Formats: sequence, C-alpha cells, structure tokens
Amino acid sequence: MASVEIHNVEKHYGGFHALKDISLTIDEGEFIVMVGPSGCGKSTLLKTIAGLETVTSGRLRIKGRDVTRLEPGDRGIAMVFQSYALYPHMTVEENMGFGLRMAKRPRAEIDTAVARAAQILRLEEQLRKYPKQLSGGQRQRVAIGRAITRSPDVFLFDEPLSNLDAALRTQMRVELSTLHDRLGSTMIYVTHDQVEAMTMASRIVVLNGGRIEQVGAPLELYANPINLFVAGFLGAPRMNFVAGRVTSTNGGSASVTCGGDLKVDFDDLAETPAVGAAVTIGIRPEKLRIGDPDAGTSFPARVRLTEYLGRETIVYADAGDLATSGSDSGTGVFTIQIGDIQPFAPDAPVSVGFDANAAYL
Ligand code: ATP
Repeated sequence: MASVEIHNVEKHYGGFHALKDISLTIDEGEFIVMVGPSGCGKSTLLKTIAGLETVTSGRLRIKGRDVTRLEPGDRGIAMVFQSYALYPHMTVEENMGFGLRMAKRPRAEIDTAVARAAQILRLEEQLRKYPKQLSGGQRQRVAIGRAITRSPDVFLFDEPLSNLDAALRTQMRVELSTLHDRLGSTMIYVTHDQVEAMTMASRIVVLNGGRIEQVGAPLELYANPINLFVAGFLGAPRMNFVAGRVTSTNGGSASVTCGGDLKVDFDDLAETPAVGAAVTIGIRPEKLRIGDPDAGTSFPARVRLTEYLGRETIVYADAGDLATSGSDSGTGVFTIQIGDIQPFAPDAPVSVGFDANAAYL
C-alpha cells in the first residue's frame, strides 16, 4: 500500500517557483532519501509533506487519506530537525512523552511508549536529565525518541545528523538504519550527505531546481544516471566528463572522438546519436587506471597532484587537449581514484586507461 502520495505538487514563494510538478509515490516501509544541491527544494518538499508549508497546487495523501489541507498535527507524521528542537526546561522523559501528553493519552500508555523508545535508543540512563546535560548525539536520539513515541505513519527527517561530528554521524547513520529495520516505518530523509543517501536509502530522489531529476535505488542511480546532472551529482570524487564528437555510427554503436588521442567506441546504445553530434562522455574516477597495458582505451596525461587517503590514492592528471568539464579538478584535468597507495611524482607522464564499456555517453 502507498504510504505517501505526492501528486503534481507546485510551490511558489511569491514570484519564486520552488517546487515544480512534483509527483512521487512512496510505499509503506520505504526509506526515501532526498538529495540535491543547496536551494533545490528538498526542505520545502519535506515541509509540504509535514504541513509546515502549504502547497500552491497539487495533492498529498498519507495512507490513502487526503492531507493536503490538514494541520501538521493531524497528518500522522513526526518530524526530526537538524536543530533537535527539544524543550530545555523538560527532562528527556518529558520531552519524549510530550506529543502523547498533548494528545491527552493515558499516563500508562505514555510511560510504556517512552520506556520503549528509551530502550530502542539506549537512553534509559538519561531519562531524568535535561537537554543541556546531554551530548549532541544523545540530544538527537531524544529528538528521534520524541518522534517514535507518537507511532507516526511517516517519519520525516531534515538533515538530522548535520550538527554532529564525523564519528558520531557514522554511528547515528547505522543506528537510524537499524531503527528503520526494527520499526519498518516509512521514513523520508533530507540530506546533503551522499554517504547517508547511498547507505540508508531504499530509494534516492535527486532534486534540482525544484524538479525531480531521477528516482531509484542507490546502486541503480549510481550505475544508470539518467542525465549529466545525476551522473555528476552522485559519486565522490565526481564523474569525469569529456566533450567529444560522434565520428561514425552503426546501428546501436557509435565512435566518439574527444580530441587529443582519445577515441571511445560505444556498443549497445539505446539510442544511436547522429554522426557529427556534440556529446559528453563520462567516466567514473574509479574506472580510470594508470599505466595498465590491458586497458582498452587510453590517453597520455601528466600528473598534477596526488592525494594519499590511507586506503586509496586520488591522482589529478592533466590531459592537455581533452576538454573535461564539471569534474572536481578543473578543465583539462582528470580525477583518477586508485584503490591502494601508489606514489606518483608531480609532473610524471602517465598513460591513463579504461575499458570503453565503463564509459557513459
Ligand atoms: P539547503 O540544502 O540549502 O537546505 P534546500 O534544497 O533544502 O536547500 P529549500 O529550503 O527547500 O532548499 O529552498 C528552496 C528554495 O526556495 C530556495 O531557493 C529558497 O531560497 C526558497 N525558499 C525557501 N523558503 C522560502 C520562503 N519562506 N520564502 C521565499 N523563498 C523561500
């Protein structure tokens, strides 16, 4: 059964068009992660689902019920914010039980719900403390606990981990995934963090300029990005893009020349481009290899900079005539990710290679 249905939602802020014809059906129990550049409308979309923003047009349903004009408290959702939004004068226990107290639920029900949430989130020892006596991670767990006690149909998270340090973020990420497995609830999560999106999502929604660019399982989006935007947005370091021109075609196959010595042959294309068409080819940094005689396609380059990250090496290599664009490293420079530590001298000439079937057209 569909948990959340978003039908043709539009949002205008005065003259600014923030959400453009958004439609999406979210199934019961899915973990949906919304990603996109700053200002793309992620938070606005989450707030319209929550009822904290009205939609200009379109409809929203939660569990089959039209909630488009309902108040946030009547939608069956609970939201967790980046800022925690805990009541400072209430203990952890009081914060977590607040929603149920407001709903005038019986005392025994509140106590049971708080005890269960505290146990799930390992907060049993903290129940009598006030928010200021807790660490950042504990505060965020209380905010999540307050959502859990309300047993919502849908959990909404707006960058809940971005105030935490890197180690705590990793820990909370694992905890949130475990929580999702345990509760089986529908969760919708907004983040800037690609790792959160790739690791937690059952499906990722990529937004850009108020529109949905693509929706799919993390590895599906990574392997089959639908356009240049999604290809460049998912993946760190970013995909390398090179400008080229189609020099010949043959029913589903095409040869692309990219300047310099680089020529790439594509087979099994869904759509055959026209001869002479300007195209962009994409190659993920981890698909590029240095000095591999077995690489089917290769081109000469010069090492500009090498970064050693412990378990991998990132090499930025200048390929002169090749017009790269949109990469982390600037025009003419390829980013190459090597899965171990290999030393390269600055300015060393190298042969950069890849298999044509790892390239995107
Ligand atoms: P970020 O990742 O930076 O938080 P976001 O994708 O969550 O970005 P939103 O907060 O949804 O972005 O904002 C989308 C756009 O709508 C932005 O350009 C923003 O300036 C605009 N916007 C948001 N709220 C309002 C408002 N109340 N009035 C006018 N414009 C707004």
